Amino acid sequence: MPRTAAPAPALAGGDAPVTRLPGVGPAVAAKLAERGIQTLQDLWFLLPLRYEDRTRLTPIRDLRPGPALQAEGRVRHVERLFRGRPMLKVTLGDDEGSLLGLRFFHFRSQQVQAFQPGRRVRVFGEVRPGQNGWEIIHPSYRVLGDDEGAALSDRLDPVYPLVEGLGPGSMAKLVRLALDQLPDAAALELVPVAAWAGLALPGLREALLTVHRPPVDADVGALMSGTHPAQQRLAFEELLAHGLSLRRQRIALREHGAFPLPAARAPVDALRATLPFALTGAQQRVLTEVERDLAEGAPMLRLVQGDVGSGKTVVAALAAMQAVAAGRQVALMAPTELLAEQHLQNFHRWFEPHGVRVCWLAGKVTGKARRETLVAIADGTAQVVVGTHALMQGGVAFAKLGLVIVDEQHRFGVHQRLALRDKGLEGERVPHQLVMTATPIPRTLAMTAYADLDLSVIDELPPGRTPVTTVAVAAERRPELVERVRKACAEGRQAYWVCPLIEDSEEIEAQAAQTTFEQLSEALPELRVALLHGRMKPVEKQDTMRRFKAGELQLLVATTVIEVGVDVPNASLMVIENAERLGLAQLHQLRGRVGRGSAASSCVLLYQSPLGGIARERLDVMRRSNDGFVIAEKDLELRGPGELLGTRQTGLAAFRIADLARDARLLPQVAALADALLAESPAIAEAVIARWVGSAARYASA
Ligand code: ADP
Ligand code: MG
Repeated sequence: MPRTAAPAPALAGGDAPVTRLPGVGPAVAAKLAERGIQTLQDLWFLLPLRYEDRTRLTPIRDLRPGPALQAEGRVRHVERLFRGRPMLKVTLGDDEGSLLGLRFFHFRSQQVQAFQPGRRVRVFGEVRPGQNGWEIIHPSYRVLGDDEGAALSDRLDPVYPLVEGLGPGSMAKLVRLALDQLPDAAALELVPVAAWAGLALPGLREALLTVHRPPVDADVGALMSGTHPAQQRLAFEELLAHGLSLRRQRIALREHGAFPLPAARAPVDALRATLPFALTGAQQRVLTEVERDLAEGAPMLRLVQGDVGSGKTVVAALAAMQAVAAGRQVALMAPTELLAEQHLQNFHRWFEPHGVRVCWLAGKVTGKARRETLVAIADGTAQVVVGTHALMQGGVAFAKLGLVIVDEQHRFGVHQRLALRDKGLEGERVPHQLVMTATPIPRTLAMTAYADLDLSVIDELPPGRTPVTTVAVAAERRPELVERVRKACAEGRQAYWVCPLIEDSEEIEAQAAQTTFEQLSEALPELRVALLHGRMKPVEKQDTMRRFKAGELQLLVATTVIEVGVDVPNASLMVIENAERLGLAQLHQLRGRVGRGSAASSCVLLYQSPLGGIARERLDVMRRSNDGFVIAEKDLELRGPGELLGTRQTGLAAFRIADLARDARLLPQVAALADALLAESPAIAEAVIARWVGSAARYASA
């Protein structure tokens, strides 16, 4: 690509304020500004979240749950009820005798009167199973005159993100008005045509007009699924913008500089020599990458991905030793107290013999202990500090923080990682950062979502592990499992019985675990059974975990608090209740708690029949594979990357139109173009970032 010496590309009128539009005064402009919409261009690129299809009528018997559908029928029955609050139930019927229920919780008397029996009503909404057949809650509807023609709409209706204080109608109207001022095609393009010519996609102007005002003959299916070339063209540019933004952050980080932590062979080797095992090839390779980064004067920001049980902790410990040997402090942050405690024990055991002081900071450390710890952190005598979120809080000041380690980083937001990092800000310099995750992410996805970090992968498990055998069993066979637990424990092994979140409440989850605990204690009187859930006091949790680890307890009935990191090699049987409700990543994490020792381990996934299609597929994947990367690929296919990555994890604002899984084929080209633009046309790069990422999605630089 030729070097462009031109100044920032003109915005072709797109930088005009929204107040330029008729009817937009300061009040509306202020509401829009809260959503980061300030200019005409911001409105052009405010893309529909989805479409509503009112181009056809679905016969009542063909209605299905899913996207909103449109149907028609005559009023059969109207009923006003009071079930704690007023409710209006209307039943429609068609010529075939199929019935459709409508339910309203907010309604006026006029509305009730409009539903005269026999009147024809057209409704639009999401269908769900009701008491007698299908039902729609709060549909949008129109009561039709008897001989009213009532044409169907001839194109899809775009649905825009809502802006507080502006109705959906006004948003659509604002976008329409802004589009009237769209400049000609050449003025709108930022990226040289040659860069995307190979993709057989339309120009930007055509693409924008198509997604905002789908033409009558547009491919409805493609538009609804986001695969229309017009959407792909926009997705391409959006992915490019995010790629550029992440790369730019990476450059900005490196400009900060860091204190080099030179390789320290003697102390690191001494620590290694006291470990009861040798590193795997993969651990060694990743450690070498980390050691090399640490020795540099530019800050490291490296993500270590490794399947559950691959041995990330010890790599972190050896890196920490290099930092300590260089006279700097290390902070290790974990997302749960349980996991942080476990790290504390390991680090104590590994470091104290070498005269390194390891300290502990969690929310429950209070009073005198807390004050003393804070002093030790501030004067530098605490060389390694292990803790939870408490590490990021105000009042915690490090003397010379050189390395920040964040375990299970997907549990933290980017801001939290940065808050900890900034505890080590000295002038312009920042600490090195090592972030670890056991949620493997397919490679192309990782390269795109984490373009601001370096990646290392521990793709090998320590020797001597026997793979976990997984079976899926219907809940009716629970009694057999109780016997199985009895047998395993009689043979000296230990077991987990996991009761996952069924409703979105830690309290209800705790109750479910409590009930199961009582049942199992009764059924297995000879076993030492204990309960572990998130609402227990930290000391209780800690004590229970210690006793389980020491082998004093045989069966641990737990909620998903044990999901991350818990390491008890003698536990070789896990039962997971309601497994059909959990995602693959979570099941894989949970299952990772067994198969850590040399005994053959099993995992039993209990499900409630009947199983839905996707649930069955998920359980099948779990039965067939123990490989986190294979499971992640499948998860991506079944769920899409939104859930896999989440915005918390990447710090990316949610995409407006791109979808990393659906649009994966665009990624290689996006990556190449992002590199080229940054190197050769930084002004264009800036303009693309401003257009798509803009101020709305801005977050602190990495
Ligand atoms: P994760 O990657 O899931 O955080 P851990 O660091 O908790 O895994 O390690 C899992 C278990 O494997 C621990 O008991 C740890 O001591 C052990 N381990 C780590 N590396 C090795 C190795 N190279 N050989 C044998 N055991 C190892
Ligand atoms: Mg771990």
